[in-house]
Amino acid sequence: MVKIKKPTPKRSPMGRGKAAGDPNDRVDHKPSMPARPEIAGIGISHPERIVYPESGLTKLDLARYYESVADLIMPFVGNRPLSTVRCPEGLSGQCFFQKHIGSTFTDPVHSITIVESTGIGRCITIDSIPGLIALVQFGVMELHPWGSRNDTLDNPDLIVFDLDPGEVVGFDAVKQAAVRLREELEDQGLKSFVKTSGGKGLHVVVPLRSRADWDQAKQFSQGIAAKMARDEPDRYTVSLSKAKRIGKIFVDYLRNTRGATSVAPYSTRSRPRASVSMPLSWADLRTLRSAGQFTVQNIPQHLRDRGPDPWKEFFKVRQDITAANLRSLHGSPPPKSPKAGRGKGMRAAKGLNSHPPRRAKAADTRTL
Ligand code: ATP
Ligand code: MN
Repeated sequence: MVKIKKPTPKRSPMGRGKAAGDPNDRVDHKPSMPARPEIAGIGISHPERIVYPESGLTKLDLARYYESVADLIMPFVGNRPLSTVRCPEGLSGQCFFQKHIGSTFTDPVHSITIVESTGIGRCITIDSIPGLIALVQFGVMELHPWGSRNDTLDNPDLIVFDLDPGEVVGFDAVKQAAVRLREELEDQGLKSFVKTSGGKGLHVVVPLRSRADWDQAKQFSQGIAAKMARDEPDRYTVSLSKAKRIGKIFVDYLRNTRGATSVAPYSTRSRPRASVSMPLSWADLRTLRSAGQFTVQNIPQHLRDRGPDPWKEFFKVRQDITAANLRSLHGSPPPKSPKAGRGKGMRAAKGLNSHPPRRAKAADTRTL
């Protein structure tokens, strides 16, 4: 259900981060700036609030950034359940994860009702550029989508390998891990794409055709990660234990489970330098210096200079996780968990999972 809330016509404070009604607002007013400037039709309140103190970027700058990358980011954040990191006062205040729509988010941000492990939840989703900008208006500074779309929730259209360097691991080693992952995926017949996380590591992302289910996606990604850790135990680990990660790279495949998220390409991070999770070509990786290299400030120039979008073909790649992939990684067919084999029509995996196709759960429907 979508609640419609018209913006209240109250005057917006134009002083930097000051509360509404602060008498000093008047002296700070810039006459050229409307009280509530519109981006993609969404009025931005507190437009001059500094949300990134270290970079001096305002809430309006953030809205403008998202407007500038809207066409690039929408395929990755639109029509999917979305977890958000909200920092209503910017980075100088508190930030927290929010995935349920609650009473915070209103039209054009929508909800999708999902059967979650903890019960039925009304999760955040958007389907338009105004919806994207409205998230910024509601204080969102990071976007973390599911790897599946609202209409095929149980069948991922992408999987993510999150490379997390442990203490004392240099960035070159993370780059080597990404290249190694790419090769492992190529050996499995799968094309992959790389992006910075905007934090410490790199993410290797594999587009899929929404045929395999989450159980198969997890088996596959676990198989790849475990192979790397087996082949090069001094470099890679799949252990969740922080102590066992010192000096190694944690190949996190656990993003690939139902309900898990990872930060979206082009999403900003709630980190001091306004870093962004930036899609790159594999060739770009050679000169990349750090996972936080791309920021709200340097991306406009980078987008002008970079030539064609290195992820242009992402959603055109037609590939699936196959039974042969799972066999080659797990030897014999992997053990079935109770949920295994419920994905719709994983043709190549027939024989592995002999369960009948899963019928859609009534509650997994979009509520508008
Ligand atoms: P870095 O390169 O610094 O590791 P990252 O985005 O990969 O950046 P991680 O800490 O590795 O960050 O987390 C991986 C993903 O797990 C996040 O992108 C996010 O989607 C999810 N995540 C992490 N913490 C939470 C949380 N508290 N609540 C919900 N999701 C979370
Ligand atoms: Mn990570």
